[in-house]
Amino acid sequence: MNKNLADIYDKLVSSYPEQKEYLQAAKEILSTLSPVADAHPEYVKEKLFERFVEPERIVCFRVSWVDDKGEVQVNHGYRVQFNSAIGAYKGGLRFHPSVNLSILKFLGLEQVLKNSLTGLPIGGGKGGSDFDPKGKSDREVMAFCQAFMTELYRHIGEFTDVPAGDIGVGGREIGYLYGQYKRITQRNDGVLTGKGLTFGGSLARTEATGYGLCYFGSRALQTIKKDSFAGKTVIISGSGNVAIYACQKATELGGKVVSMSDSNGYVYDPEGIDLALVKEIKEVRRGRIKEYAEAKNSAEYHEGCRGIWGVPCDIALPCATQNEIDLDDAKKLLANHVMAVFEGANMPCTLEASRYLIENKVVFGPAKAANAGGVATSGFEMSQNASRESWTFAEVDAKLKTTMERIFDDVYKTACKYGDEYDLLLGANVAGFEKVADAMHRQGIV
Ligand code: NDP
Repeated sequence: MNKNLADIYDKLVSSYPEQKEYLQAAKEILSTLSPVADAHPEYVKEKLFERFVEPERIVCFRVSWVDDKGEVQVNHGYRVQFNSAIGAYKGGLRFHPSVNLSILKFLGLEQVLKNSLTGLPIGGGKGGSDFDPKGKSDREVMAFCQAFMTELYRHIGEFTDVPAGDIGVGGREIGYLYGQYKRITQRNDGVLTGKGLTFGGSLARTEATGYGLCYFGSRALQTIKKDSFAGKTVIISGSGNVAIYACQKATELGGKVVSMSDSNGYVYDPEGIDLALVKEIKEVRRGRIKEYAEAKNSAEYHEGCRGIWGVPCDIALPCATQNEIDLDDAKKLLANHVMAVFEGANMPCTLEASRYLIENKVVFGPAKAANAGGVATSGFEMSQNASRESWTFAEVDAKLKTTMERIFDDVYKTACKYGDEYDLLLGANVAGFEKVADAMHRQGIV
């Protein structure tokens, strides 16, 4: 790492020693930006790199609500408004007990580069709460969402900050959040994306991240290996929104998905995953992946979600959460001759794991590029809301595919220019950063 960038990282370590995920993301990004620092001494002088890794603003608030037993519950709420150089803050809300500032700052920082790569005028942000929707009744989820929005509404807006979903925040939660926003403000604007189709949502938004991941993956396999998903064995971690639609598209493209998981364990089905059954369990019953093996004779269930990386495969799609593949898991994948890993989740590979895969010439699609289809389609939802239009599924899907292929091409070109065609991580960081840096430079010291 360039000395100046290394000093910035050291300063972050001393300022935020406990924020491990944020430091991990900052290190991963700064360690690839030396070519930009060398080419732009004015950025160094303007302390642009220091400014880039610090959020513009963080809002923290209390969320008080009443559960079904009549007891008062108190959770923490956050919105990290990371960078607005190229447009309004945009990024999801995560509801999960593990949520804290470190996780939201890492997600926000990644989001800035991801949103830049989409080519749309959207800045980066992220938010959420340590509230756990799992096991809560619909009424409890609604009470929480209403309390959360009662504080958040004053910090967001169509032209300032447009949140969306993430882990634990799907169509149900976005509906409740939007209802409360509208009740307080009397405004029917595109302040949230991922809305229901009857009140401003976009067709194909639900499918977008998983589909986009496979469009990116197809382009990468075709360009680097002259190959495709056809006939490949695929494993997918998670069984939430991203995992389900990645499974659908990978199967449509000719792959055979044999394994999926949740935070308790994974299923292995050599006949190929029956996605209708997974959707029934996860989307209708809100059940556990274990129930898949109970319903299907050809499938086995294994306790412990990490075991999935030992299942032999050609293509791995981590679609659950951060740091789910460490160096040992990456070694297991390679020992089983994996040819490609495309990140559907945010930062699912540790820095050591991603470096190991890249050095061993595995086609590695970094999250900020490979999973950008969700936010790109959120951008399409904002366009439809602003123009009072509804595009067809086919129109949105076609735009999504073109966007993901263009993102791959930009990232690949940048990777080749600065080093190695397999280093798509460097390619994504540099390509995403260049646009934000130019905007920050032109807007002066703010
Ligand atoms: P969902 O809540 O729909 O699903 C999350 C899945 O991951 C569930 O199967 C869940 O299992 C599993 N999971 C969550 N936490 C853990 C954990 N600590 N260990 C193991 N498994 C875990 O979320 P999404 O599918 O929306 O998001 C998945 C990932 O994709 C996240 O990293 C998110 O940031 C990223 N992403 C999502 C986008 C979107 O459009 N939704 C856009 C871009 C990125 P369980 O039910 O047991 O908790």
